[in-house]
Amino acid sequence: MQTLASFVGGRWHEGQRDTEALFDPTTEAEIGRCGSAGVDFGAMVQHAHSVGVPALRALSFSERGAALKALSAAIHAVRDDLIDVSARNGGSTRGDAKFDIDGATGTLAAYAALGAQLGKELGEARHLPDGDGIQLGRSPRFWGQHMWVSRPGVAVHINAFNFPAWGMGEKMACALLAGVPVIEKAGTPSAMVAWRMAKAIVDAKVLPPGAFQFLVGKTGDLLDHLRLMDCLAFTGGSGTGLLLKGNPSLLRHNVRVNLEADSLNAAILGPDVEVGSDTWNLFLTNVAVDMTQKAGQKCTAVRRIFAPKHLVADMVSALVERLQAVKLGDPALAETRMGPLASARQFKDVRAGIEKLLKVGRAACGGLDKVMERGYFVAPTLIVAERADVAVVHQEEVFGPVATVLPYDGDVGALTALVNRGGGGLVVSLYSNDRAFTDQVVFGIAPYHGRVWIASDRVADQALQPGMVLPQTVHGGPGRAGGGEELGGARGLQFYMQRTAVQGFQGAVAKSFGRPDSAPATA
Ligand code: NAP
Repeated sequence: MQTLASFVGGRWHEGQRDTEALFDPTTEAEIGRCGSAGVDFGAMVQHAHSVGVPALRALSFSERGAALKALSAAIHAVRDDLIDVSARNGGSTRGDAKFDIDGATGTLAAYAALGAQLGKELGEARHLPDGDGIQLGRSPRFWGQHMWVSRPGVAVHINAFNFPAWGMGEKMACALLAGVPVIEKAGTPSAMVAWRMAKAIVDAKVLPPGAFQFLVGKTGDLLDHLRLMDCLAFTGGSGTGLLLKGNPSLLRHNVRVNLEADSLNAAILGPDVEVGSDTWNLFLTNVAVDMTQKAGQKCTAVRRIFAPKHLVADMVSALVERLQAVKLGDPALAETRMGPLASARQFKDVRAGIEKLLKVGRAACGGLDKVMERGYFVAPTLIVAERADVAVVHQEEVFGPVATVLPYDGDVGALTALVNRGGGGLVVSLYSNDRAFTDQVVFGIAPYHGRVWIASDRVADQALQPGMVLPQTVHGGPGRAGGGEELGGARGLQFYMQRTAVQGFQGAVAKSFGRPDSAPATA
C-alpha cells in the first residue's frame, strides 16, 4: 500500500490522518492513500513568495526554457513507470497513458523552445514587449509602449483527475516560463500518476528552490492565503469551478482566476459529405477515438454529434461497427483499447447520465448492461436522439464513452443555434467540403467556442485529432467551459504576467521596454 506525499517548502510531507483511499478501477482494490493533513498552507504560499519568486525572476527566458527542456527529459525518462502507474491508478490503457504523458513532455518541450526563441529575440530581458510603440504626443518624442512583466506571486493549479500528467505539465510550463512559481494540486482519483511525475520533477533538481510545490488531498485554507499578485488556475467540473470562483477571499483580493471546466463538444457532419469519402472516414475515426480514448474522460471529447437527416442511418451503422470493435479490458494489457472509468464516482455519474439520455433517444450500441464482472467498465454508448432540440443533450455532460446523435435538416441558422445551446464550449469539429456552409457555421458558432476544428478532403491525410490540445493554439472556452484561456504559444504566459503601458520620452521608453529591433532611429 502506497502513501502519497506532498512536496511542501522543499520537503516531502505525508499526511498521516484523514487520508483518502486510491483505487485500481479495474479490480476496485485499494492501492494507496493520500491526504494533506498537517500541511501549513500559509507557509506554502509564503515559501513560493519568498524563495520561488526571486529565484525564478533572476532567470532569463532562455534559462527558464532550459529548465523546462530538462524537466521534459526527466519526465520522459520515467515514461514506462508512469504508463504502469496510469493503468493501475486511473484505468488508462498504454495508448491513453502515452497521450497524457507525451502531452505533458511535448508541451513542456514546446514552451522550452519558446523560451529559447524569446532569449534569442530579447537577450537578457525579463519582460515581453507587446506590439509596436505608439506616438502619443504631437511629435514622436512622447511615446507609449505596452509590455508584459511577471507578477511576483504564486500560481496555484488545481488539476482534474483525467489528465494527471498533461494537466500539470501544461499549466506549469506557462507559469514557470513567465517566471511564476507553482503549487500543483493533483485530482485525487489519479493522484498516484501526478505524484510519480512530481517525484521526477523534484529529483531532476533543475528548478530553482521554491519554484515547484505539490499537493495531494484537500486544499484546506490554501486559497484564503492568496493575495494581489497570486493566481488560481483550475481545471474540473463547472460546479467546482463556480464554488472556487466565488471564494470570498479570492474575490476580496481580486486574485486572478482562470477556469477550464466542462463542455458539450460537438462534431458536425456537413450535408455535402459523401459516404465513403476521406472526410466521411475521418469523421468516423475521430468520433470513435474521441468516445473511447481515456474511456471518454476527455474534456474535449465529442458529446453531441450533429448529422444531416439523410446521412443519419449510414453514419450510425458505420460508427456502431467501429465502437463495437473496441476491445475493453485490463488497461495494462497491450491488446486492450479501452479501460474502465477512473473511479466509482465516475462509474455512478456516467451510468446516471446514460439513464437520462435514454429517456430522449435509443441506444444504438452500449447502454447500461454490465460489461465486466468487476471494475468500473462502461461500454461505448451511442444514443440516437428522437429530436435535435431535446434539452438534456445540450445540458448534461456525461463524462464517459458516451455521445448522442442529433439529426438536423438543412437550415444552417437553426443548426448553429443548436450547437450554441451547449452554453459555451471548448471545441467543435466540423466536417465539410462546402466552403460557404463551413464559413457560415464557423461565424455562427465561433463566439461560443474556444476552438473550431475543420476537416475536409484537403486536410484529411494530415489533420491532427480535434480532441488534441496543442501548445500552439489556445485552449478554453466561454460560459460553461469556464471562460478561461490557456496555452496558445506566448499567449499562455499572459495570465501570469501584467500588461503595463509605459509612457514617456521615446528614446528611453522604446529602448528599455520596446522590442530590441524596433528602437526608433530618432529620439
Ligand atoms: P472536479 O471534481 O471538479 O475536481 C477538479 C479538481 O478540483 C480536483 O483536483 C479536485 O480535488 C478539486 N476540488 C474539488 N472540490 C474542491 C474544493 N472545494 N476546493 C478545492 N479544490 C477542489 O472535476 P474532476 O472530476 O476532477 O474532473 C472532471 C471534470 O473536469 C469534467 O467535468 C471535465 O469536463 C472537466 N475537465 C475540463 C478540462 C478543461 O481543460 N476544460 C480538462 C479536463 C477536465 P479532488 O480530486 O481531491 O476532489
